[in-house]
Amino acid sequence: MGSGKVTSSEHLDWQGRHVTVAGLGVSGIPAAKALHARGAHVTVVNDGDDARAREQAAALEALGITVRLGDGATLPEGAELVVTAPGWKPDKPLFTAAREAGLEIWGDVELAWRLRGPVAAPWLAITGTNGKTTTTQMLASILKAAGLRTAAVGNIGVSLLDAVLGDEQYDVLAVELSSYQLHWAPSLRAHSAAVLNLAPDHLDWHGSMEAYAADKGRIYEGNRVACVYNVADKATEDLVREADVEEGCRAIGFTLGTPGPSQLGVVEGILVDRAFVEDRHKNAQELAEVSDVNPPAPHNIANALAAAALARAFGVPARAVRDGLRDFTPDAHRISHVADVDSVAYVDDSKATNTHAAQASLAAYESIVWIAGGLAKGATFDELVAKSAKRLRGVVLIGQDRALIREALARHAPEVPVVDLDRTDTGAMPAAVQEASRLAVAGDTVLLAPACASMDMFANYNKRGEAFAEAVRGLAGAGA
Ligand code: ADP
Repeated sequence: MGSGKVTSSEHLDWQGRHVTVAGLGVSGIPAAKALHARGAHVTVVNDGDDARAREQAAALEALGITVRLGDGATLPEGAELVVTAPGWKPDKPLFTAAREAGLEIWGDVELAWRLRGPVAAPWLAITGTNGKTTTTQMLASILKAAGLRTAAVGNIGVSLLDAVLGDEQYDVLAVELSSYQLHWAPSLRAHSAAVLNLAPDHLDWHGSMEAYAADKGRIYEGNRVACVYNVADKATEDLVREADVEEGCRAIGFTLGTPGPSQLGVVEGILVDRAFVEDRHKNAQELAEVSDVNPPAPHNIANALAAAALARAFGVPARAVRDGLRDFTPDAHRISHVADVDSVAYVDDSKATNTHAAQASLAAYESIVWIAGGLAKGATFDELVAKSAKRLRGVVLIGQDRALIREALARHAPEVPVVDLDRTDTGAMPAAVQEASRLAVAGDTVLLAPACASMDMFANYNKRGEAFAEAVRGLAGAGA
């Protein structure tokens, strides 16, 4: 039987090793099962002790896994490694105890990385404050168009552990990673990686902007071929500079402007590559047209360029970039056009749950009636409102923290009409859409980009978007 700590350098023979899995749930249960199947003695610890947790615990215990409910704080006796759900905060007493005992702490991504087989598919990894899911899906679409066996995995529905341990064979994986997952993934080494952008988010979890950035920056550690950064977001380039990469790994920028050498960018409506071409000082390769990107909003073109950069780093031909982008449709509630009513476009970007996302969304339209509000999560709205003021025809506010937005509007856009609905109930959306339709004139866009989380009024951002779409359909029906 093994004894002592599980360390990074050790060959992983799990037989008899004592592993603590922190958290029942989407990552904890498969982790516990996978480790148990390899012969480890697994103890799952979980803070909650409700009916659902008991049910999950019973299923694991039936397999021979120990589960301790109602106490996620104490490190079990004899633990040699902790595998945690990515969302668990690093300052938890369990981790303090683990660190004091000199144990490693791995998240779900680290575990998948360690358990992958010897001929595992390389990872093309993506993180950023916004645009991760969209870019990862675009990348998978491009890789598929190149005839590669691939999947979009990670922080995106399909767990990495399933992708890595399943029967399906992959040539390459498109991997979305959250800052939490990166925090707990010390030995991950991607083929190539991109940080799309960096704006304050989840700071309560990470402790500071520096710590958040440092965790995002881990994605570049040990990259072999390319570190892809956003030319318009210097913080992402700084992270590349600070990363320790493999010899020969290149820094590749993406820009909405004309690209320099070692960059991808846009020239007269064409996405072009001046990085993965012969003699990049003289040559450029046309990849696709801006109109091949769906939707062709500026931030989404940036996402497409980042996806293209990673695909090109993997050797994908230009034609596949174009075909993959054409084949791609974004997930619901991400700048989705719901309907035109009386020559006004109604757009659902319910997924814009923070100010950085809402700013990108507002930048995509010329004249907007903006529906905003919800849970601000500690955000301030001055920059967002100041940058977007000239595009605003009017604003309709809903949700708990709407006063914060109203005050920012009073400071930076005092001439813009604001309707404060003063409502936080689920049924408020039709009224919001009605008010927006009154403010809008032909050619405008009514944009739901709340810059806030939805949970004060709705179960999640999906429900918020659906309520918006339904209200728009009601409006269209009434007008018909
Ligand atoms: P994530 O997975 O990072 O949450 P998504 O692709 O789901 O990102 O997009 C979330 C929201 O972020 C979108 O609805 C859009 O408002 C905004 N967004 C998408 N891409 C970008 C980008 N590159 N920069 C800023 N905001 C973006």
